[in-house]
Amino acid sequence: MNILVLNCGSSTLKFQLISTDSEKIENHSDQRLAHGQIERIGGAAIITLKAEGKSPKRSAEPVRDIKSAVEIVLRWIASDESGIEQVSSLSDIHAIGHRVVHGGEHFTESVLIDDEVLHGIEDCIDLAPLHNPANVAGINAIRNTLGKGVPQAAVFDTAFHQTLPEIAYLYALPYQFYRRHKIRRYGFHGTSHRYIAYRYRNMLNIPRENVKILTLHLGNGCSIAAIKDGKSFDTSMGLTPLEGLVMGTRSGDIDPAIFEFIAAKEGLSVQEAETLLNTQSGLLGISGLTNDMRELLAEAEENNDRRSKIAIEIFCYRVSKYIGAYLAAINGADAIVFSGGIGENSPYIRSLICERLNWLGVRLDKEKNEVQTNGNEGIISIDGSSINIYTIPTNEELLIARDTVRLIGS
Ligand code: ADP
Repeated sequence: MNILVLNCGSSTLKFQLISTDSEKIENHSDQRLAHGQIERIGGAAIITLKAEGKSPKRSAEPVRDIKSAVEIVLRWIASDESGIEQVSSLSDIHAIGHRVVHGGEHFTESVLIDDEVLHGIEDCIDLAPLHNPANVAGINAIRNTLGKGVPQAAVFDTAFHQTLPEIAYLYALPYQFYRRHKIRRYGFHGTSHRYIAYRYRNMLNIPRENVKILTLHLGNGCSIAAIKDGKSFDTSMGLTPLEGLVMGTRSGDIDPAIFEFIAAKEGLSVQEAETLLNTQSGLLGISGLTNDMRELLAEAEENNDRRSKIAIEIFCYRVSKYIGAYLAAINGADAIVFSGGIGENSPYIRSLICERLNWLGVRLDKEKNEVQTNGNEGIISIDGSSINIYTIPTNEELLIARDTVRLIGS
């Protein structure tokens, strides 16, 4: 089956076309046929479309909304121009898997989308006002173009973390705020943490319930999860993705009183202060230069830039602190797994983070750490390390495609 995986954001649409079915899942022979993205939707958009083995097609044109963006992707996939052998018309797109950001407490696993599910996703708009409307727009665009008969599945970023116990998900606020407004920790990047945990147990050939690890998703957005008995026990993002680790442009944990303080001092509304913490903070805020870790590392090395160096150090320090806390939360772990653009590719960042775990008996294998880049999967600690350290490239899209196939099958 050809599954189109869509990740619809407020101004960006990312997609992958993946060929998979139950047999391919079994033999791990799923195949990506094409991928791409449309950025800056709502204005002069930048379109990148790429079939596997072909060179990418880049163009710029105005794209009004998500619906138009979805239509551009569908048209290209089905066209001769794309050169995707497995697809000659729209009817060769057999199902759609959507990455949906917020499923609230209602959605604890992936589901096929019907009217009731669509309303459920709309009900969560309050919790994710920037993201869920884009997901709804994507689902409706597919219904309009391909018809209601084409199955669509929703795979929620929050679902994997619905196993968090009360002690991990409740904030120490008056309890009625949880009851009245469902204010609690939800956590995000759930599909990524679930995929990493799945690959880990595959690599070690152990059953799900024996998985006791910390998974680090370090990309533009960053989060850590403590996984016990194969289930998410705690995670660093909260009601929204703002909480937790230092990220590209997000502050992560701060004293909540800073909101009011910034708003008063800078003459901002609470909403503007929140936007500042989401978009102008983190690595970008500290360095004053960029949210891109690769650029910061280059700046620190080539120009000895003080603020780039401190941004990198604060980033790693926060991750190490969380690892310490989460090891206590689940009473130790068998492994710590690095993933995401930074976690998968930067031996230096991994070594800075692990340095603070020396007291625990964690020891990286210098050589293995150096070569484990470019999406390689494997162990990077020495034999006698008290906790094994791995890199496992994440692949949320693959999991979304596989969930979609399984749901159609059942
Ligand atoms: P997203 O969270 O948007 O999916 P990614 O997982 O692709 O993002 O991660 C993007 C981050 O990974 C950027 O900060 C980028 O600089 C960083 N990154 C990618 N390659 C490297 C590398 N070789 N060394 C350090 N950081 C890297």
